[in-house]
Amino acid sequence: MSDHGTYPGLSVEEAREQVLACFRPLKPETVPILDALGRVLAEEIVADMDVPPLDNSAMDGYAVRCDDIASASLQRPARLRVVADLAAGRVTERPVGGGEAVRIMTGAPLPQGADTVVRFEETRSGEDWVEVINAGPRGRNVRRAGEDVRKGRTVLQQGTVLRPQEIGMLASMGRPEATVVRRPRVAILATGDELVGIGDEVGPGKIRNINGYSNAAQVLKYGGLPLLLGFATDRADELTEKIREGIAAKADLFVTSGGVSVGDFDLVKDVLATAGDIDFWSINMKPGRPMAFGTIDNTPLLGLPGNPVAAMISFELFARPAILKMLGYPDWEWRSVDARLRMSIERNDGYRHYLRVHLHTGEDGPEAELTGDQGAGILRSMVLADGLAVLPEGCTHLAAGSRVRVLLLD
Ligand code: AMP
Ligand code: MG
Repeated sequence: MSDHGTYPGLSVEEAREQVLACFRPLKPETVPILDALGRVLAEEIVADMDVPPLDNSAMDGYAVRCDDIASASLQRPARLRVVADLAAGRVTERPVGGGEAVRIMTGAPLPQGADTVVRFEETRSGEDWVEVINAGPRGRNVRRAGEDVRKGRTVLQQGTVLRPQEIGMLASMGRPEATVVRRPRVAILATGDELVGIGDEVGPGKIRNINGYSNAAQVLKYGGLPLLLGFATDRADELTEKIREGIAAKADLFVTSGGVSVGDFDLVKDVLATAGDIDFWSINMKPGRPMAFGTIDNTPLLGLPGNPVAAMISFELFARPAILKMLGYPDWEWRSVDARLRMSIERNDGYRHYLRVHLHTGEDGPEAELTGDQGAGILRSMVLADGLAVLPEGCTHLAAGSRVRVLLLD
């Protein structure tokens, strides 16, 4: 890769393809199943038993023989002798013979001989007898052994993204741990002489380090582990030191912000270009036109622009898919909706624009309203946003009422 030069008009898709080519799914690790949420399963889970293991009751009531209640009705109830009382988690050796019933709680295994459960609501009972006032089909209110999962069946395939229901299935299979793709460690470094810590006094000419937190939160949101390197002033030794820190912490990816635009103080660029193998791009998008990408000590580095909205949107477009790819996700497309614009939009520069919008429910589908000032430094436009409306490159005008694609932020 060359260390300088800008390529006007590199499309978002071309840039993303180049970025993603440098990432692979990470190695698997074995973790407690609650830590596996949102991650990609790296093993196949095969059931080693039936679930449920035994036929059992789906209701609180009486386990009976269906033949005994075949003609039961309110006028002519079937009277049965109650021979046992069975709580969930208990079994009885006592079979249910003709004319007999066992009082049974939900989940308790069905006793030998019984094939049907009658709910309490359909009975009248005394000390040691019960009257059934409703006939019903055989097998009513019985959960069959293996009706959820049959022994030998693959219940979760390798490559599955684990949601709460899959975590439940792992629990059902008696797995306290699962083997999943490792989470990427993402080193977050903000740069700029003007930055101060978020707990510090904002002196003249200074601003708080926003990107260090918004980018770290994005890492967390998409399943990575942020390594907070704080911020470096635009000094070569400080920057180099921070980068060394990230490499020592075994970062899988560096995300820096600031110092990559054309007019920027050259130091960040110099350091990145000397210490690593970094390209500086100009991407056909706004906000977030300038971006750096390459490797430093074999670790990929994404240099995002400094403006807080630009840093977040560039992260969404480039860092997010890289993280998801490292996590082993099969794809990283956004969920999107087509929405009607509530206002007209003019942009005469020909760039692709990602506009912050709030979505409303309109009469014929979603409607998108700009969240106010769209400047790259106006963080409020992100705070109010549900999504990013895409104004395609070359498009200079969209009338109110026209349709736009909105990438959903959540
Ligand atoms: P740069 O890309 O370094 O030229 O920065 C562009 C703008 O973003 C400048 O106004 C910076 O002050 C601002 N900026 C850069 N880094 C941060 C940060 N971490 N937090 C908030 N604003 C920042
Ligand atoms: Mg700067």
